[in-house]
Amino acid sequence: MGRIFGTNGVRATINDDLTVDMVLNLSRAIGTVLNGTIAISRDSRMGGEMFSRAVVSGLLSTGCSVIDLGPMPTPGLQFMVPRLGCIAGVMVTASHNPPSFNGLKVMGANGIEITRETEGLIEDVFFEKSFTIAKWHDIGSVQSYETAISDYIEGIKKHVDVPAIQERKLTVVVDGANSVGSLVTPILMRELGCKVISLNSQLDGHFPGRMPEPLPKNLLDLSSVVRSVGADVGIAHDGDADRATFVDKDGTVLWGDQSFALIAVRVLNKKNGSTLITPVSSGRLVEDIADAADARILWTEVGSVVVSHKLLETGAELGGEENGGVFYPPHLCARDGAMTAAQIVEIMAIENKPLSELVRGLPTYFSTKIKVPVPADKKSLLLEPILEITSDLDRITIDGVKLMYDDGWVLMRPSGTEPLWRVFAEAKTQKEADELVEKGKSIIEEAINKI
Ligand code: MG
Repeated sequence: MGRIFGTNGVRATINDDLTVDMVLNLSRAIGTVLNGTIAISRDSRMGGEMFSRAVVSGLLSTGCSVIDLGPMPTPGLQFMVPRLGCIAGVMVTASHNPPSFNGLKVMGANGIEITRETEGLIEDVFFEKSFTIAKWHDIGSVQSYETAISDYIEGIKKHVDVPAIQERKLTVVVDGANSVGSLVTPILMRELGCKVISLNSQLDGHFPGRMPEPLPKNLLDLSSVVRSVGADVGIAHDGDADRATFVDKDGTVLWGDQSFALIAVRVLNKKNGSTLITPVSSGRLVEDIADAADARILWTEVGSVVVSHKLLETGAELGGEENGGVFYPPHLCARDGAMTAAQIVEIMAIENKPLSELVRGLPTYFSTKIKVPVPADKKSLLLEPILEITSDLDRITIDGVKLMYDDGWVLMRPSGTEPLWRVFAEAKTQKEADELVEKGKSIIEEAINKI
């Protein structure tokens, strides 16, 4: 059977690789495998209305009923699915991809992305076209649910010290990327007593303000607004607001692992012997924080869905990714940009320090990333010789090979889509990081020659 789900749901170009027919049939397959009441939502992308109507038609035809929450962040839908007693959730989104993309994410009854096994069942039905077709009297119905966004905001507020944040009267600029983060975070921040200035807050699938990925190069307007209005912090979301990136009062964009580390310090120190779950691509900063808090790290493969499932399985206190994705299980075992934003302003309020000063208190590391081209036919064969070459070294082999040194590490992983391996390195100086990345490259080249 072919595959239709990628590492994070289905994502493809609108009316090109992702057609209405395909979304309709995929939804018929989803409704065949997960039959019951299904909540749906979408972000502001082009095609969101078109595809969500196809999703509704497909699901209803199998006898499912639908609760349409309207546009909201992916983690908002994930939060609502178990609270509405739904068997599943379907989000129409392509997260941070370019504007020409859209896609679907499917969640189970617990609000967490379905497993690979369930994806496989849905794919089988999709390719065999073995859809359930409901009898005329069993076709489902559509309900709306008007208070999903306020329920979600209340859910987030339960996990932060609201009076302490309100007392500080912070000024925040929220850049919602012309998408669904704008429906939540400005209201959440206002209810936390902040003065809120909104940027790119009109929902618009052309993304006129900036590209939906919150990279520093896309946040120049946010940085300059934060500086010019004298705000305490800037908050930027990606297209479906499961991530938040922060800008300090000087307009400097924080690295994702820095905001994650600030939250980790606070969460892990609440309890002795906490557990932190993070992909092997995360760096030393997170290890230092965990060591200092006497917490244990469980490494996983790269990918937010893997982290979510590991959190559910282990009951760990926190999950996080180096791109700024933070998973706070008492709220949701999935990344949540608005929850992350509430946690950062809580830390600023309680510590009563500017973000830049909080970040200065963290250890500093330097990193480098390169791509090493590999003949397509050798890409998947490389792991074995690399394991052989590195067998005497301290390493983690959960996803690619990560070599651990006293003052740094280097990770070698095959690209999911391109004929290349990626090499990431991190160390206490830029020179050492550059040397480690070269070492990774030479190991890959030696391995190519061994095949
Ligand atoms: Mg996202």
